Amino acid sequence: MYHMGANARIAAKFGRYVLGNYSRTPPAFVRGKGSWLWDVEGNRYLDFFPGWAAGAMGHCHPAVVRAIRAQAGRLIMVPNNVMHPWQAELARRLLQAARFRGRVFFCNSGAEANEAAIKLARRYWQVARGKMKTRIVTVRGSFHGRTLGALAATGQSVYHRGFRPMPGGFVHVPLNDLKAAARAIDSRTAAFLIEPILGEGGIQMPSPAYLRGLRALTRKRGALLIFDEVQTGCGRTGDYYAFQGTGVVPDAVTLAKPLAGGLPMGALVVAERFAGGLPPGSHASTFGGSPLVCAAGIAAIKVAAAPATLARVRRMGRVLRAGLERLRARHPERIVEIRGRGLMLGTQLSGPGVELVVRCRALGLLVNCTHGTVIRTMPAITVTEAEIRLACAILDKALSETAPR
Ligand SMILES: *Cc1c(COP(=O)(O)O)cnc(C)c1O
Repeated sequence: MYHMGANARIAAKFGRYVLGNYSRTPPAFVRGKGSWLWDVEGNRYLDFFPGWAAGAMGHCHPAVVRAIRAQAGRLIMVPNNVMHPWQAELARRLLQAARFRGRVFFCNSGAEANEAAIKLARRYWQVARGKMKTRIVTVRGSFHGRTLGALAATGQSVYHRGFRPMPGGFVHVPLNDLKAAARAIDSRTAAFLIEPILGEGGIQMPSPAYLRGLRALTRKRGALLIFDEVQTGCGRTGDYYAFQGTGVVPDAVTLAKPLAGGLPMGALVVAERFAGGLPPGSHASTFGGSPLVCAAGIAAIKVAAAPATLARVRRMGRVLRAGLERLRARHPERIVEIRGRGLMLGTQLSGPGVELVVRCRALGLLVNCTHGTVIRTMPAITVTEAEIRLACAILDKALSETAPR
């Protein structure tokens, strides 16, 4: 091989040394700023799916970078049997944004946040209330993470394949079917866990009536209603928590992805009355809520929960949706509908979308295809109108170039 480029050299190293659990492709990125990424050969890409939804703050947000730099030189890590100011302050801000009385537990990822929620729900009923409620109900098409508990909660059998037996006690029901939910939620149900918008499931929307119905059913039968906001949270939909746009207040919310501006962090935000479900010694995370990550989290939430930021997300969301709707008008045979809220939008194609994603990348735009036929655009909350116009122009070109003949 001659004139092998730097991207290909790194790809060869991945192929030789890194476990092959991802379908990973070049380019190899070395620098990011806002909505832009540069690869090792100096090519620039407009990133409309930063960090697989964890990059909502944009690459290297200056406030986050400043906070990490300062905190790294001050204190990086202390264990959770002692205190530090940053964890308590981030918890206070998360609850202030939620506008309910509650408590926060910190961990390192979305799967871990859901594990904590599942464990809290079961232990609350079984120990604090002395009732043998064990079941966790979730919806088909949901995604809650890859650890065994979160995986069992995930309502897509494709992710379970080869990993059986799954932990027991998980029940999956069809989305937006209140009758099925009413049958599934009974005296043995500890919690109903649902994403306010199904992300990995193809940007599917639970209807407002369905969420209201779940709220009533869980309250009546004595089960927790838990929202998995790992993807929808932290300002993504134009509210800091997506539940705030649904009119339904859950008993607990899980967060992760962009929570700490790109550093690994998960959180369980739970209403005061259920917080006793995890008493001292019942659950833990060594790195959860460390000073470094919390300092980044404080910097991130100061930006993401600010009313001006949320108003901007709603405005940019309208601009992006209008751009995608124009594409639908120009390619009616390719685009079926646009779904989502704020800056979390899915473009439902009439056929496979992988080729379109590859074409976009060649034209300098990064987007994602989920569920085979849904183009997912989740740009940074700092995205500009000019960047949205450019992304739509590239998508337009890619749609034309990949049109079936
Ligand atoms: C990504 C995701 C998870 C898993 O988060 P990890 O940090 O990868 O463990 C859980 N729930 C939802 C809704 C997600 O989008």
